[in-house]
Amino acid sequence: MKNLPLDLSESLRKRYLTVRNNGLANVFKVQDEIISSIRAFLKNEGFTEILAPIIGPVTDPGIRGAKQVTIDYYGVPFKVMSSMILYKQMIITALPKVFALSPNIRLEPLETVKTRRHLTEFRQIDLEVAYATCDEVIDLGERMLCQVIADVKAKCCKELGERCKTLTVPKRPFKRYTYKEALEILENMGMKVNYGEEIPWEAEEALSKAHMEPFWITNYPATARSFYYMESEESPGVLKDFDLVYPEGFGEAISGGEREYRYERLVERMRRGGEDPSQYGWYLDMLKAGIPPSAGFGIGVERLTRFICGLENIWDAVPFPKVAGIPSP
Ligand code: AMP
Ligand code: MG
Repeated sequence: MKNLPLDLSESLRKRYLTVRNNGLANVFKVQDEIISSIRAFLKNEGFTEILAPIIGPVTDPGIRGAKQVTIDYYGVPFKVMSSMILYKQMIITALPKVFALSPNIRLEPLETVKTRRHLTEFRQIDLEVAYATCDEVIDLGERMLCQVIADVKAKCCKELGERCKTLTVPKRPFKRYTYKEALEILENMGMKVNYGEEIPWEAEEALSKAHMEPFWITNYPATARSFYYMESEESPGVLKDFDLVYPEGFGEAISGGEREYRYERLVERMRRGGEDPSQYGWYLDMLKAGIPPSAGFGIGVERLTRFICGLENIWDAVPFPKVAGIPSP
């Protein structure tokens, strides 16, 4: 499959011409199979698909330097969903295993164009399971990714072209590193990341390039992530969370973890992270009313498509791409 040959801004603004490229049509056929495969897999696991929220009074604050979009909702400021995490914690009170194909808007910094894996409008398959642990949803994520790759290879080899030969169903269980171990590997590669920080995009890509199979990074420090992840009882300051990283330089696939569901602890975490609890109206009222513990994750659909199709750029993995700074259709 070919990437777009034209200048990026020009080619995205003229999407009505470049979308006709035969390579892109093949990508969208593969994407259709990816989505069908995930839906079938999750239905078979007992999940209910729900409709995702698009706007609301609050959204996910943990979006690494991206800006949220605010709209005027009858005189009340509303956010456009950066992710539906807070809503997933609401719906599992009614349905214990849920997922949605959830659209997200994040005004990513301009420099993210260089990562080739950031869009400003993207979608996640976002799922949540009441009373689940990290290990259980990690196992689910591995089985889901293996199933999707197997289905796409079986049904879309023609559309995948050369990539059909190099794309293999990964061996389970996937390798797991703690965040601390990932930092040690990076240090040995000559990339120093200070404990407590998010792993920078270039370091994430370098780590990904050093692997030929997907792998997990678990137990990030609380200072690197948002308030809604559960903190470990044994190691305060360390979270019960994880990322899945694709191999071959494709970078982050999934973020997820166990959720903090206890009102007092959550308010304390918000304060520690510099968040103002008074901005989280219904969310904190809900926690006061009581919700079950849960675990879940989100997997970016365009990034999954980029990885499966072996695309250099994420903007070739979506019909109507929105990239930081480029006002395209
Ligand atoms: P996050 O909540 O930031 O961990 O996002 C969840 C998942 O959505 C990530 O693991 C990615 O697969 C995907 N994702 C996050 N940000 C972007 C973006 N700017 N463009 C495309 N996909 C993204
Ligand atoms: Mg993430």
